[in-house]
Amino acid sequence: MTYGPLRAFVESFLFRQSCASQMMVRGIYVVLGAGAIIGAALSHPAIVDDAAIADVNNNAEWLTYGRNHNEQRFSPLDQINSENVKHLTLDWYLELPDAVGLVATPLVADGVMYFVCSRNIARAVDAKTGKLRWTYDPNETPLPEPRSRIAFLHGNRGMAMWGEKVYFATVDGRLIALDAHTGTHVWTTLTIDPTEAMYITGAPKAFRGKVLIGNGGAEHGPSRGYVTAYDAESGEQAWRFYVVPGNPADGFENAAMAMAAKTWTGDWWKFGGGGNVWHGMTYDPEFNTVYIGTGNGSPWNRKIRSPDGGDNLFLSSVIALDADTGAYRWHYQTTPGETWDFNSNMDIVLADLEINGRDVKALLHAPKNGFFYVLDRSDGSLISAEPFVDVNWASHVDLKSARPVEISGTRYEDGGPVEITPGPPGGHNWSPMSFNPDLGLAYIPTVHETFSYSDHEIDIGSWKSPEWQTPVPKRGFGVDIKQVFPHGQSTPGSLQAWDPVRQQQVWQVPLAVAWNPGTLTTGGNLVFQGKVKGDLKAYHAATGKTLWSWKLGLGVSAPPITYEINGRQYIALLVGWGSTPATSGGADNYQLGWRYGKHPRRLFAFSLEGTQSMPEILDPEPPMPLDDPKFELDESLVILGGEVFGNCRMCHGGGAVSGGGAPDLRASPMMLADAVLDAVVRKGTLVKRGMPMFSDLSDLQMKALQHYVRKQARVALGLIEPTPVDFAEP
Ligand code: CA
Repeated sequence: MTYGPLRAFVESFLFRQSCASQMMVRGIYVVLGAGAIIGAALSHPAIVDDAAIADVNNNAEWLTYGRNHNEQRFSPLDQINSENVKHLTLDWYLELPDAVGLVATPLVADGVMYFVCSRNIARAVDAKTGKLRWTYDPNETPLPEPRSRIAFLHGNRGMAMWGEKVYFATVDGRLIALDAHTGTHVWTTLTIDPTEAMYITGAPKAFRGKVLIGNGGAEHGPSRGYVTAYDAESGEQAWRFYVVPGNPADGFENAAMAMAAKTWTGDWWKFGGGGNVWHGMTYDPEFNTVYIGTGNGSPWNRKIRSPDGGDNLFLSSVIALDADTGAYRWHYQTTPGETWDFNSNMDIVLADLEINGRDVKALLHAPKNGFFYVLDRSDGSLISAEPFVDVNWASHVDLKSARPVEISGTRYEDGGPVEITPGPPGGHNWSPMSFNPDLGLAYIPTVHETFSYSDHEIDIGSWKSPEWQTPVPKRGFGVDIKQVFPHGQSTPGSLQAWDPVRQQQVWQVPLAVAWNPGTLTTGGNLVFQGKVKGDLKAYHAATGKTLWSWKLGLGVSAPPITYEINGRQYIALLVGWGSTPATSGGADNYQLGWRYGKHPRRLFAFSLEGTQSMPEILDPEPPMPLDDPKFELDESLVILGGEVFGNCRMCHGGGAVSGGGAPDLRASPMMLADAVLDAVVRKGTLVKRGMPMFSDLSDLQMKALQHYVRKQARVALGLIEPTPVDFAEP
């Protein structure tokens, strides 16, 4: 029986009731599933609602980015556990030949897995076999300017589900609804002004018949961040909340903006202000509240956007909004007067904790600034905040004022240069942490890095916001940054288990690279994390001991999930080297040897009963730069080419050293073939594969690009000495 009269009858009779009764309806489906007729109807995705998304015992599914509304990335499933995980083996896999970077968390509903690949291509597969059900490609038309040049085409972090639809957003700011059964397009809403330098990489959040989406862009032009909720059925806008105030002359949208405006100085609105909500959004059914994590200032340097100081609300904050209206409820600002790119976009996890003998409805948040925050989510009050990495910009967070106590001299705007820990990548970035309520531990992909900040070379007075429009900020971020390596900094990255009640580390596994993917924790006493070096590992959740490891043949950038079908527990993840290390390039990432177009991108699922043998995997192999001895280098063209290369380095890597997210141009024969290069760069022949079109580059600039890349190739081959500035790009 297809989706038809009987199920429609059951729905019309029982659905659209209260949340509680909807949960019962799902229960009834399960019970009736034993019967032949309704059992057949179960092969279609069930109707996803708040009760289903909030149900932590719904082991068969993974219905939102962090599995449940609490965003814990915890499943009670314990079939795979610390005793038997050593027997975990491949159950199925799917080749994804058109993919590059894969960073998304798949969703699973009624035996079907949904995920977004490179270039925002959406797919559904049978979660038991990996068999493809449908593909939806939203790239019918090339991306419009200026976002075509932002090129985060391989960074989509996932989907939302509501009713019988799936939702995802595209880099150019479309929110798209598809029929979950068929992948058929239902509606598209453009969520950002096409003339603005905003983009979307984040997963939407669905709740109460609405779909919420934010955007990124604080580094790409004058940007005023906001979130928008749309009706899940129609795509009509329900509400919008701006994060920072606009021009007072235009009037404020609400009392919260009027309040926030008191914390800004100068003509901040000309710079946009920032605060973009590009990642953490959590819905809390207990308070009917949505919490959004907000971005850094735009530009970074507070002296430019708010010259007489101020907290600059609501930058770097967790804001609680009424889920039905978007009305402001409360906020907690983690970094008042943000100036170091210390955004608070990281995931927001809900947990019920007992703290000092009191039951607390807690909100857990580990933002870039290095402090782990526990808030009381009933009112946003601070319970505790302790550093989970080395922190040198603030001595502590004062519990009485709920504010960080800054260490004097750490504001580069007041004199710099200063070395700040953590730096712009943060102590924790978007790779989500997980929280195991059985053990009371959070598992944080942690970054240990220090950066020098200086605005000595910046002409603050002449900074005009339109000048730092995309493709790449021509004026930087209002501050020059450079990674430094202080004596005694032990490891660039780690996986650590953190106890949010005692606010202390329980165990830590050092990792060889800074940027590591998100985690999953289970009732089987396990923590899973993919590795940049190409493995999936399982750790004992209480001790951090490595219990299992599997070679995947490519660096991992996405978090794993788990679900159960017909009594079998699966662990699944997308394997496609991507995100910041792959695109920013540089020597460390180049040496990992994950190559664009060489190492296969795949979706893997593991179980204890798997019998699938692994597909071929290839060893890491960095591309070998080419040289053309006849090519005569012109140093002035090399310098000009270095400037032009600012358009290229976001994907092809700083210093033309690719991290694997795009071809290494030093090794590309195309760079030596004028006509082909012209077709690709200025005529856009590879736009559909993700290479933006740069039709405005002059003949001289094209020539200069070739000189710059040839020089980098010869430097890499040891044929000539490097120019010191070549590798100074952040
Ligand atoms: Ca930022």
